[in-house]
Amino acid sequence: MAGSSKTIEGAGPVTPFETAGRAYHINEHEYDVVIIGAGGAGLRAVVGCAEAGLKTACLTKVFPTRSHTVAAQGGIAASLGNMGPDHWRWHMYDTVKGSDWLGDQDAIEYLVREAPRAVIELEHWGTPFSRTEEGRIYQRPFGGMTTEFGEGPPAQRTCAAADRTGHAMLHTLYGQALRHGAEFFIEYFALDLIMDDEGACRGVTALCMEDGSIHRFRAHAVILATGGYNRVYFSCTSAHICTGDGNAMVMRAGLPVQDMEFVQFHPTGIYGAGMLITEGVRGEGGYLTNAFGERFMERYAPHAKDLASRDVVSRAMTIEIREGRGVGKNKDHIYLHLDHLGADVIAERLPGIAESAKIFAGVDVTREPIPVLPTAHYNMGGIPTNYHGEVINPKDGDPDAVAPGLFAAGEAACASVHGANRLGSNSLTDIVVFGRAAAQRAAATITPGAAHKPLAKDAGLEGLERLDALRFADGGTPVSQLRLAMQKAMQHYCSVFRTGESLNEGVEKIREVWKGLDDVRINDRSLIWNTDLVEALELSNLLMNAAATIHSAAERTESRGAHAREDYPERDDANWMKHTLAWADFEGRKTRLDYRPVHTFTLTDEAEYIEPKKRVY
Ligand SMILES: Cc1cc2nc3c(=O)[nH]c(=O)nc-3n(C[C@H](O)[C@H](O)[C@H](O)COP(=O)(O)OP(=O)(O)OC[C@H]3O[C@@H](n4cnc5c(N)ncnc54)[C@H](O)[C@@H]3O)c2cc1C
Repeated sequence: MAGSSKTIEGAGPVTPFETAGRAYHINEHEYDVVIIGAGGAGLRAVVGCAEAGLKTACLTKVFPTRSHTVAAQGGIAASLGNMGPDHWRWHMYDTVKGSDWLGDQDAIEYLVREAPRAVIELEHWGTPFSRTEEGRIYQRPFGGMTTEFGEGPPAQRTCAAADRTGHAMLHTLYGQALRHGAEFFIEYFALDLIMDDEGACRGVTALCMEDGSIHRFRAHAVILATGGYNRVYFSCTSAHICTGDGNAMVMRAGLPVQDMEFVQFHPTGIYGAGMLITEGVRGEGGYLTNAFGERFMERYAPHAKDLASRDVVSRAMTIEIREGRGVGKNKDHIYLHLDHLGADVIAERLPGIAESAKIFAGVDVTREPIPVLPTAHYNMGGIPTNYHGEVINPKDGDPDAVAPGLFAAGEAACASVHGANRLGSNSLTDIVVFGRAAAQRAAATITPGAAHKPLAKDAGLEGLERLDALRFADGGTPVSQLRLAMQKAMQHYCSVFRTGESLNEGVEKIREVWKGLDDVRINDRSLIWNTDLVEALELSNLLMNAAATIHSAAERTESRGAHAREDYPERDDANWMKHTLAWADFEGRKTRLDYRPVHTFTLTDEAEYIEPKKRVY
């Protein structure tokens, strides 16, 4: 029911509210479940909830099929074994190793065992996967995906719809969501969670960007599927909407986010533009060279070479450039070759890449290499959850305690299946597996149509005070200037390689930028399509994510996965095999950290706990 928001709006009761002498009217709504986000995770949760008979609303700040999932290229991992031997146990081993032993092994077991079912489900719903000669789903090799517990040849595990897998999945999922009659509130910007005195989530507040109306949604459960926050960086592959709004909502509700120091830099962003060139290119046989035309990955990862895990390849590229072996006039990037694959293979399996390279780098990939550079790409950290998608709010003596009524799934969440480093193609698996898990848990615990407990009149309306203050902000700093200062600082102080000194400097720098919010200026005072205001709301969310990320990174004195400390080059399991938790003090512009144990147990007896060992490829 795209656009159905028009008829629903104002249908319920309206509550007057006043802040700073200005009157607002709050449109009240009641649902069993409200899902924030219509990317792969949100839509899979919508399908699950609506199918179970729950009255379901989905709020999204962009039209569903514009969510960042649409940009996913390479594919979705599942041990279908269509192209050679495979097993979920091998997928589990690779994922644990890829996570550098920071992933929770019970959640990882759940992910890899559910993966084949999730892909077949997508196939049955109509996702147009590429096919083998025999008509099976086509699967390509991806970094870190192996057979025989890392001893065998690369696994062909990544199911692909050419190089537009996310596009195919998202459109399929949106169709399914409509089929089950969920109600969509499109171009609604969620502001804050409504929490009660017992720490349970009771709903959410939102701004309809189109007409400026304010809404309060009550729900027995809220599922956050708001995606990542890579826009804290200057150069990233993620869409402009990836601003960590859900993470910030959770922090404002007094709950922690987890493992924020682990940010994945994708080895192959187009130099200068940041646009992604999928790892699928290397999966299909593409390779990297330095200024001497040398395939340098052979030196860093003799076994897996160009298909080593992403953190490994990004570090190798950075070292090549630092040591003067970069390509181009400024010797500041690397070449990715696929010209040897032949025009036919490129046209069939990588058509989108050929187009992106032409548009953003002016390169004909059938003849020339693509100039590439490691670029911020994925957030391993986020809202901590268990494998049901229930949000964790640790209590004394119970590090796994959950916040009733609150769920998270997808890139916004930290389940934690990716630990310190995500393997390529495991995120598309994650979003559909945990989107469904959250819906199943919600369906198991909520009676459709159950009455809502009474709510305080002003419950959840602090977010509106925040919105009003920003709307009338008349300081001296434009939002874009403050955002740029944050992005430059994150890029400079919290990148592929890190040191204590620069991280600590960065913590102060980000704090300064965060304080700069007090001096922000908004020119548009209206509420109708006020992009200035929405960008200010996003910036205040981004800043909380940036602060949590850089503070968590400064404290972790070891190297693990994507977190590479030059001053602490080794992994330190004795002291650091634990999840970082970060709480934000929004008023004080500070974060506070603590830690919780990694799950070193499996879900069932059918999986064996994978003991930590050195991570080499
Ligand atoms: C270029 C690119 C290519 C990738 N390729 C692959 C790949 O091949 N394989 C793989 O496994 N992974 C890949 N990834 C990663 C993967 O695509 C993402 O991690 C995943 O799609 C995230 O899905 P999601 O549902 O969690 O969030 P998203 O798809 O980002 O959706 C977030 C949703 O939340 C909504 N939202 C956010 N904030 C608010 C708010 N305040 N109010 C209302 N709504 C809000 C948005 O409108 C949107 O609908 C890629 C990522 C990028 C950037």
